Amino acid sequence: MARGCIVKRCKVCRREKRNQFEFCNHPERVYGIFYRVGKKSIFRTIGPNKKDAESALEETMRQVKQGTYSELKEILFEEFAQKWINDYATVNVKPSTLRNYRDAIRCHFNPAFGKMALSMIHEPDIRAFIAKTIKNRKPKTVNNFTVMLKTMFKHAKRWGYLRENPAWDIEHIRDEPKEQPDETEDSSNYKSTLPSVSDD
Ligand SMILES: [Zn+2]
Repeated sequence: MARGCIVKRCKVCRREKRNQFEFCNHPERVYGIFYRVGKKSIFRTIGPNKKDAESALEETMRQVKQGTYSELKEILFEEFAQKWINDYATVNVKPSTLRNYRDAIRCHFNPAFGKMALSMIHEPDIRAFIAKTIKNRKPKTVNNFTVMLKTMFKHAKRWGYLRENPAWDIEHIRDEPKEQPDETEDSSNYKSTLPSVSDD
C-alpha cells in the first residue's frame, strides 16, 4: 500500500547537524514529501508552498499505485536551461538562433521560472507567463517563446527530468492586426529561426 506524508524540514539545520524537522526560523525551512516505494524511503524537497507539496504527493502516490512511478532527476529550470544550451543548442542550431535562445532564457524564462524545480513547472505557470508577456510583446515573439519552451521541455522529458511536457497543450496566439502593441525591443530576430517541435 502506497503511503506518504508531507513534512517540513530545513537544509541549513540539517547541514549544521541540528534536527532538520524541528521548527526553526531559517527561510530554507520548506515543504517536502516523504514516501515509500517498495522498501525504499524517499524524501523529495518541494518548496515553500504547501499546495505544491500536496499535489506532488498526490501525483506521486497515484503513479506508485499505477506502477508508472519512476524517479525523476531533480534540477532547477535555470540549471536545465544552461545544460540545454550547452548540450543541445550549441551543437544543433546556428549562431544567430543560439543568441536568441540565450536572450530568451536570460531575459524572459529565468526571471519567470529560473528558481523553480523543473518538475514543479506546470501548464498554469506557462499560461501565466504568456499572459504577462503578451502585454508588451508581439504575438509572434510570444509564439516563438512557446515553441522554444515546448522544445526545451520535450528534451527534459527525454533526458529523464519530466514525465510530461507542461507546454505541450499551449496554443499559439493568433496574430491579428487589431491594435499595435508597443514594441519596446526589436523582436524581428525571432523570425522563424526556431525549429518546429513534435512530441515524441
Ligand atoms: Zn533551520
